[in-house]
Amino acid sequence: SNEEAAAKAAAVDADSGAPTIFDKIIAKEIPASIVYEDEKVLAFRDISPQAPVHVLVIPKLRGGLTQLGKAEPRHVEILGQLLYAAKIVAEKEGILDGFRVVINNGPDACQSVYHLHLHILGGRQMKWPPG
Ligand code: 5GP
Repeated sequence: SNEEAAAKAAAVDADSGAPTIFDKIIAKEIPASIVYEDEKVLAFRDISPQAPVHVLVIPKLRGGLTQLGKAEPRHVEILGQLLYAAKIVAEKEGILDGFRVVINNGPDACQSVYHLHLHILGGRQMKWPPG
């Protein structure tokens, strides 16, 4: 499918260290609807929402975290901060009764942006298993 082809193409560049679109969002060079921000973390609405609430949570400093599968011990603190930011976002968005946190890792999971991000999804009945 087109989606799979795009994911594979993105994966080719994954380890190049090339900036991604998220660097431009962090730098406020392109607009995004920011939901939460602190020193380490930025949360903004996904441009192609898959649920009434669909927010991405990213580290402001990618620091080698192109994907979860590249995590090292030095990333443990930011990984915890990202997950805690997911809770803050869910609270702010009023979806604490039901939300999903997703990380797509690598081409087989259709990761398309190689800057680690958590998807926070909610505001509708979620189904299991996901596709
Ligand atoms: P992935 O497929 O890598 O797990 O998720 C990347 C997500 O980033 C997708 O859900 C996609 O819609 C979102 N995205 C890609 N480009 C932009 C953008 O320029 N702005 C925003 N807000 N989201 C984006």
